[in-house]
Amino acid sequence: MSAPRQDSPDDSAPDSLPAIAADLLAWIHQNDERAPAWFLDQGAVSPEMAAALAAAPAAPAPVAPAPAAPAAPAAPAPPAEDSAPAAAADPAFAVACAAFVARTLALIDREGVPAGGTLPPDPLLAAHGGDKAAALAALCAEVLPCTKCALNATRTHTVFGVGNPDADLVFIGEAPGQDEDLQGEPFVGRSGQLLTKIIGAIGYTRGDVYICNILKCRPPGNRDPLPAEVEQCEPHLRRQLAILRPRAICCLGRVAGQTLLGTDASLGKLRQAVHFYAGIPVTVTYHPAALLRNPDWKRDTWDDVRRLRALVDALQAR
Ligand code: URA
Ligand code: URA
Repeated sequence: MSAPRQDSPDDSAPDSLPAIAADLLAWIHQNDERAPAWFLDQGAVSPEMAAALAAAPAAPAPVAPAPAAPAAPAAPAPPAEDSAPAAAADPAFAVACAAFVARTLALIDREGVPAGGTLPPDPLLAAHGGDKAAALAALCAEVLPCTKCALNATRTHTVFGVGNPDADLVFIGEAPGQDEDLQGEPFVGRSGQLLTKIIGAIGYTRGDVYICNILKCRPPGNRDPLPAEVEQCEPHLRRQLAILRPRAICCLGRVAGQTLLGTDASLGKLRQAVHFYAGIPVTVTYHPAALLRNPDWKRDTWDDVRRLRALVDALQAR
């Protein structure tokens, strides 16, 4: 018979441990229901969700090519029940999403905004026979050695942009960070890995969309872009967009949104509405770096990008 453990401070354990475990389970379950964090960490979108997304805008059947077989990266696709809640299983969201799309389309019609925006096509497009990839490569060659602002002195690489030259959707961040400066490619560090998941969560891959930044060079210590830097760099972005002529833009974070749209509205305000840049519809959501610090914001980001996906589908279906 083992000695009684009268002295043990764990005497109460038999009662409190199960209680703690039960609390923990309840907490996990509650968090699952709120879906604050896990959904963007699941990687690929399930086929069910892709179908629900396609149905969400309640628009005519999307003519867009089905997003490349629900982006199945190296990781095995999670079982459907572990995936993000489908819009169809979220009727309130589906209604709000359809309303957002309808409002945005009505706004586009009222303003008479042409697809691809109002920027005159960049001369490089004509010079390359309308070949967007060749025009972008030519613009990139012009931008890489840029010395218009002081950031050229501290950069390792100019970070022009990557992705599909024919993309209908362009993501715009703020400026390269350290990893991006070292590799010459946008969003390749920790934020970039999360961005890749966010893109995957709406059924795209990085190769389906185009990704760039407001500033093409890294501000030392990742400080915010200075107005003078933005002023010197914005023409590069404008020309990039005048070649890409995307159907929609998504700004990542407050700084990207405020800078692109020339406003000092808060991120909360910017997220609520659709905006226009040279006639191209723009939405704004959280910066992935902000989501790494505040995983609770992933839930709202999920809504933002589902609405964005529905908008792109509806624009493609026109
Ligand atoms: N943050 C950004 O805004 N852009 C990048 O390319 C990387 C991190
Ligand atoms: N503040 C920012 O600058 N960006 C975000 O995404 C959230 C808060």
